[in-house]
Amino acid sequence: MKKISILGSTGSIGTQTLDVVRVNKDIEVTALAAGHNIDLLEKQIREFRPAIASVWDEKKALELKTRVRDLDIRVESGMEGLLAAATEPEAEIVVTAVVGMIGIRPTIAAMEAGKDIALANKETLVTAGHIIMPLAQERKVKILPVDSEHSAIFQSLNGERMNRIHKILLTASGGPFRGKTRAELTGIQAEDALKHPNWTMGRKITIDSSTMVNKGLEVMEARWLFDVSMDQVQVVVQPQSVIHSMVEFEDGAVIAQLGTPDMKLPIQYALYYPERRFLPGERLDFAKLGQITFEAPDFENFRGLSLAYHAGREGGTLPTVFNAANELAVKKFLNREIGYLTITDIIEAAMERHKTVASPSVDEILAAEQETYEFIESRW
Ligand code: NDP
Repeated sequence: MKKISILGSTGSIGTQTLDVVRVNKDIEVTALAAGHNIDLLEKQIREFRPAIASVWDEKKALELKTRVRDLDIRVESGMEGLLAAATEPEAEIVVTAVVGMIGIRPTIAAMEAGKDIALANKETLVTAGHIIMPLAQERKVKILPVDSEHSAIFQSLNGERMNRIHKILLTASGGPFRGKTRAELTGIQAEDALKHPNWTMGRKITIDSSTMVNKGLEVMEARWLFDVSMDQVQVVVQPQSVIHSMVEFEDGAVIAQLGTPDMKLPIQYALYYPERRFLPGERLDFAKLGQITFEAPDFENFRGLSLAYHAGREGGTLPTVFNAANELAVKKFLNREIGYLTITDIIEAAMERHKTVASPSVDEILAAEQETYEFIESRW
């Protein structure tokens, strides 16, 4: 039996991870952590019987504790709860599927406790990659990418570890507004942006995909995971989402991973790496597909991507500011407090006024996050 803990079990990645567990029957779930959704968490607890459950919200954690008092389970709350779930002694792999920078501390704690990380929570690598990657080497733990693009790169590197990467070709669908100008993007509402053409995901990442901020975060994630420079990561728009990403080697050979858009594939690959297991679901039918097309990304109308390159090249606390500004701006957009294009305006303004701290500690990263929130709240 493989033993795993899932942080963010009630979300899009969390529930799909449990789908993979359900089908495979040889994975034991030792801890589950969620934010607020105790109805779903209770169902998951009754089905998967973890030793620890954690709910961010203290009141909801107390309510859950009462609801599951017939079971032998520890219910915790807040950061302490997340850390307890991340370090549950029996777990070998921790799936980090919480959304946002809240993932930094539990990811570090899990690695310090010797757990491998199945990493979905890209915000952790974007903001603290310079801490996470050396720690993984020091503790000899694996960082197994769950993001489909990074899993594709990881799969394309199989048997190639001795060879230098020339370039990473990170594919992007271009999102629901591909081809639109800034003028056409002005009146976009949350419900328009929440419709992704190819993937069903959580609300924040769906908005991030539509602004191309998600692709910017992924460029920074790739830079850390595969030890390349920002300039070695090139975004290629491939609207059908069939090629999940590619690696170009020094001799010009390009290796890619293809498949239907289904997050269960990269999740399962991370949990069983290097083994491949049968995965039920639709298969690629090339005759039906007809063609795969490519475009260059539109840096002018989708400024999130160019701002991400700037943040990643400068490094230090600037990626944190990029990410924190985006997290709050997306929240405000979903609450209808700001317009669609204001999301990138906010990121740009927050980055412009920030004085970058090189090689920040976790406390300095969290301070930069806080300072960014305060700046935005004072202006928008
Ligand atoms: P969702 O919004 O669907 O889920 C987020 C999960 O995190 C929920 O379980 C939520 O709990 C939990 N959560 C939120 N805040 C806290 C907190 N403070 N403490 C504990 N749990 C918390 O997000 P996704 O699943 O879409 O994304 C998760 C991560 O994976 C993100 O970093 C995203 O970028 C990345 N990712 C997602 C992909 C996808 O296809 N969805 C693809 C690739 C990467 P609750 O709902 O109970 O409040």
